[in-house]
Amino acid sequence: MNLVQELDTAIAAVQEASVLCRRVQAELENATLEKVDRSPVTVADFGSQAIVCSRLRNTFPSDPIIAEENADVLRSKDNLGLADRVVKEVRHIRPDATKDEVFEWIDYGGSQDYSNRFWTLDPIDGTKGFLRGDQYAIALALIQDGEVVLAAVGCPNLSITGAGTVPGILVAARRGLGAQIHSLSDHNIVGQASVSSFSDPANLRLCESVEAMHTSHSGAEKIASILGITADPVRLDSQAKYAVVACGDAEMYLRLPSHRRYVENIWDHAGGSLLVEEAGGVVTDIYGEKLDFSKGHRLEANRGVIVSNGQLHDRLIEAIREAGIG
Ligand code: AMP
Ligand code: MG
Repeated sequence: MNLVQELDTAIAAVQEASVLCRRVQAELENATLEKVDRSPVTVADFGSQAIVCSRLRNTFPSDPIIAEENADVLRSKDNLGLADRVVKEVRHIRPDATKDEVFEWIDYGGSQDYSNRFWTLDPIDGTKGFLRGDQYAIALALIQDGEVVLAAVGCPNLSITGAGTVPGILVAARRGLGAQIHSLSDHNIVGQASVSSFSDPANLRLCESVEAMHTSHSGAEKIASILGITADPVRLDSQAKYAVVACGDAEMYLRLPSHRRYVENIWDHAGGSLLVEEAGGVVTDIYGEKLDFSKGHRLEANRGVIVSNGQLHDRLIEAIREAGIG
């Protein structure tokens, strides 16, 4: 199971979608403050999904895709302007695309149910970061028999130690074959992703969501104090957090439930989790259970997500129990 064609296709799709997202984010920076609303992220979200799904569909016509969006909103006559903007952005990459084709590509991502082999896509993970001009990710993964076997995660604004000074990396992985860091500017491989080997609390770097709605910041503070971690947490949006741990720039990523009933979406974790595992790290839920990607579009069997370089994962799970989180 080398999945060479799958890997090439996934990397190319995420690279193209990154170009689209960067372009829209750059326009956002030039917009005057009064004109900024959520629509740029919507344009980039749909555009990114159209680009990735069109490529996947072209090469693997029978693979289902579970993605975040569908084109119904764009078809409504109230959103004609929005639809035109999406098509315009997609045409920068696929010059001959018609409006109907763009809608059709977006709808390829409309599967919701589990199957033996499927792709899952978050066309823009970290929409809040995207709007702030910060971190976001295009996250694509292939799941076979309930296991993530391939991932390509593009982080257009992320810089990693040792990967050059120009921001923008894509980390790609296949199960059993490691994870590679690619530059988003020249597409070259700049190195192998490998987690850090730090285990001394004085050196540990913890990352978490910027949004307090998405993770309990106070919970992480408790855990840090139990483990004796002294550095302040690094907050960043999207699966860039997984990339940071995979590349050895942080030792932990905590996603501690801040809502009693929230169940995580698979597209927020499938790609990122494989990057970390293939870089030598560990990913579980807050109880230490493996993430179960066989339950449809949500991680129904899991609660929260805990990511580490593996050095003190058990101690981390114990600390979560001690702190009464869950
Ligand atoms: P992040 O950028 O890490 O904060 O994560 C962004 C993702 O959080 C989005 O793609 C949403 O799917 C997801 N999300 C939305 N609400 C919640 C919540 N209450 N708890 C955890 N994740 C959430
Ligand atoms: Mg997301």
